[in-house]
Amino acid sequence: MPNALVDINLLPLDKVEKLPDGGLRIGALVRNSELAWNADVKEHYAVLSQAILSGASPQLRNMATTGGNLLQRTRCSYFREPSAGTPGGYGCNKRVPGTGCAALEGFHRTHAILGTSEHCIATHPSDMCVAMAALEAAIHIEGPKGKRTIPFAEFHKLPGATPHIENALEAGELVAYVDLPKPIEGARSVYLKLRDRASYEFALASAAVVAKVEGGHIRYVRVAMGGVGTKPWRSHEAEAALTGKPVDAATFRKAAEAALAQAKPRTDNAFKVELAKRCLVRTLKMATA
Ligand code: SF4
Repeated sequence: MPNALVDINLLPLDKVEKLPDGGLRIGALVRNSELAWNADVKEHYAVLSQAILSGASPQLRNMATTGGNLLQRTRCSYFREPSAGTPGGYGCNKRVPGTGCAALEGFHRTHAILGTSEHCIATHPSDMCVAMAALEAAIHIEGPKGKRTIPFAEFHKLPGATPHIENALEAGELVAYVDLPKPIEGARSVYLKLRDRASYEFALASAAVVAKVEGGHIRYVRVAMGGVGTKPWRSHEAEAALTGKPVDAATFRKAAEAALAQAKPRTDNAFKVELAKRCLVRTLKMATA
């Protein structure tokens, strides 16, 4: 349990502002609803608006913040169990390092198939973060040692042997802003989320795609996936399989195969491999139509 709770709600970090270079600055305290319905976001970063609106419920989105969404923790049932990591309780290396991982041989239907380790297979829960990964956002951090900016891809950590370390924040540091780069002219972006029910549910598989097509070929593309990774999962493999290629079903399927080539499914979540491939194919089709 934390020793102290600090209320940061009065900090002036609740604005969405245009940057001189054409990008967008999002304060860490901007509410998810406000961000999703922001006119610039809807017009130029549709994938982000769609991703946020696919998550949680209207009531939660009205309260949830950009910084909080970045830092939200897994819904692995063992991690959320009060006995996790205690003597006689479920093993959970993320909750208490060195206590094992009950999910490996237990309930893991919703768990990750990419970026896992023998120490943790928990899925990263955020939709917003998947869109931000595809948009190549940058995260501005402030702390006792000053300010620093890190690329989105470097913010969340793979579990490896230290699943309790989930992100690049150091002691005393705070996320101040998230910057989105200038929109890619002529690109279209889409977020598609597949889940057990139509709302108020985490993704089993999701995909965020930003794509620009010229002359029937893919000239620019960014791909990220959710529901399948231990962190918001940028797929450079899919991007390489798509760039310069014709817009057709064969190209999309090859990209999906590439994106899931390193998947390590377990007994109950093996279905996610094909589900994620179909999710990506469908999203690519929508983003390039
Ligand atoms: Fe804990 Fe991770 Fe295993 Fe879940 S998957 S029980 S969070 S170590």
